[in-house]
Amino acid sequence: MQRCDTLIQARWCIPVEPDRLVLERQGIAVTDGRIVAIEPLRAMHDRFDPGVVVDRPSHLLIPGLINAHTHAAMTLFRGLAEELPLERWLREGIWPHEKKWVSAEMVRDGSKHAIVEMLKGGVTCFSDQYFFPEVVAESAIDLHMRAMIGTPMMDFATPWAENADEYLSKATDLVHDPYADHPLVSSCFAPHSTDALSDDSGRKLRILADQLDRRVQIHLHETTTEITNTMKERGTRPLTRLTELGLVNSSLMAVHAVHMTHEEMRQFSAVGVSVTHCPGSNLKLASGIAPVQAMLDAGINVALGTDGAASNNVLDMLGEMRTAALLGKVQAQDAAAIPASTALRMATLNGAKALGLDDNIGSIETGKSADLTCIDLNRINSQPVYDPTAQLVYSCNREQISDVWIGGRHLLDNGSLTHVDEDEILQRSVEWQQRIAAV
Ligand SMILES: [Zn+2]
Repeated sequence: MQRCDTLIQARWCIPVEPDRLVLERQGIAVTDGRIVAIEPLRAMHDRFDPGVVVDRPSHLLIPGLINAHTHAAMTLFRGLAEELPLERWLREGIWPHEKKWVSAEMVRDGSKHAIVEMLKGGVTCFSDQYFFPEVVAESAIDLHMRAMIGTPMMDFATPWAENADEYLSKATDLVHDPYADHPLVSSCFAPHSTDALSDDSGRKLRILADQLDRRVQIHLHETTTEITNTMKERGTRPLTRLTELGLVNSSLMAVHAVHMTHEEMRQFSAVGVSVTHCPGSNLKLASGIAPVQAMLDAGINVALGTDGAASNNVLDMLGEMRTAALLGKVQAQDAAAIPASTALRMATLNGAKALGLDDNIGSIETGKSADLTCIDLNRINSQPVYDPTAQLVYSCNREQISDVWIGGRHLLDNGSLTHVDEDEILQRSVEWQQRIAAV
C-alpha cells in the first residue's frame, strides 16, 4: 500500500483536461500538496493508505476557479458608485474615494475581505490590479490564497505613487523581489489603460517586462468612449497604440476586449494574447457585450474575471460563468455558443494559461498542485443531475460550495473556513463603511 496525505472521494469529477470529460465515483489522492492519482474509487482503496479521507458522496469536484481579473481591495467600495457608465463611474464615483481612502491599511482589510469571499466561492487563485500590491501579496500569503499581483501604473498621483517614474520603480522592485520563487504569489505589470500610459512609460514598461519576463495586464477596449477618445487624441485605436509600443505579444493579458474588430482578433490570436472576459462588470457599466465565441473561434485564449466588487458587485465566479454562457449565446445568436464546459474551462484552465501558471494549476491532472473545489449538488435547485457540467454552470450557486483546497491545504471544510476569523474581517469592513459614509 502506498501512503497519501488525503484521499478525496467525490460522486463526480470534471478534470477540465481532457475537455468535456465527466468522471463518476473517483478518488483523487493528494501528497505534499500535489495530485498523485485520479482513479476509480475501488482501485484507489486497493492502492492507497490515506492519512485523511474526505468523503463527498453527492458532490462534484472541479479544479479551483481562477478569477483572472479583479481589484480585491475594492470590496470596501462595494455599492459606493452605482448606475454610472465607466468613465463617470471612475471620475466621479471611484477616483475621489481612492484619493481619500486608499492606504496600506485599507488595501489589507479590503483584500482580506475579498479573499474570504472568493475562497468561500470556490476561487483558488486571483489576478489582482491595485495600489499597494505588496500589501495584497502579504494578505494573500497570510490567508494561503494563490495570487498574481499586478503592480499598478497610471499617469497621475495616487496615495501609492507620485508620478510615472515612481510607479515604474516601485513596480520593478516588487516584480524583482521578494516573490520570484514564492509557491503562492507571482507578479505582473498592470498599467490601468492606454490613456493612463504615456509613450515614455510604455516604452520603459516594454523593456522591463521583456527583461524580467513578466506579464502585462491592462484594461483594453472596454468601452466605445475609450476608443473614441484615443482616436480623437492620437488618431489610432488603443490596441494600435499598444502595438506601436511593442506591448502586444504572448505576455499581454487584455482585460475586457469588449469592442474588437475581426482584424484585432486575428492579431491577438497570431501573437498569443490572452483576453480576460468580465461579463458582469461589462453589463453593469453598460460597456457592451464582448464577442467571446468569435474570439474563441479565432483561437484566442479567453479567461474569466469578476473585475472589482465596486462594478460587479460580487466576486462570484460561479455567477460569472453563468453570465458568460448566457451572454455568449445572445451575442452570437446561437444557443450552442459558450456551452457550460467552455464556461468552466474559461474559469479554470484558460485562466491558468492567461497567468502563465497552466503547468501547475487549472485542471485536475497528476502532478499538478491540489487546487480543488467541491460543490454539493444535492440541493433543491440542482437535483436531479443528468449533466453535472450543466448543473454547475446553470443551476448551482456559490452557497453550495463545500470544500476548497489550495496546494493540498484544506481551507474550506464542509462549508467552514479552517484558517480565518471571518467575523473579524467582516467587523473591519463594517468599520470602513462607517468611516467612509460619515464624510
Ligand atoms: Zn478592472
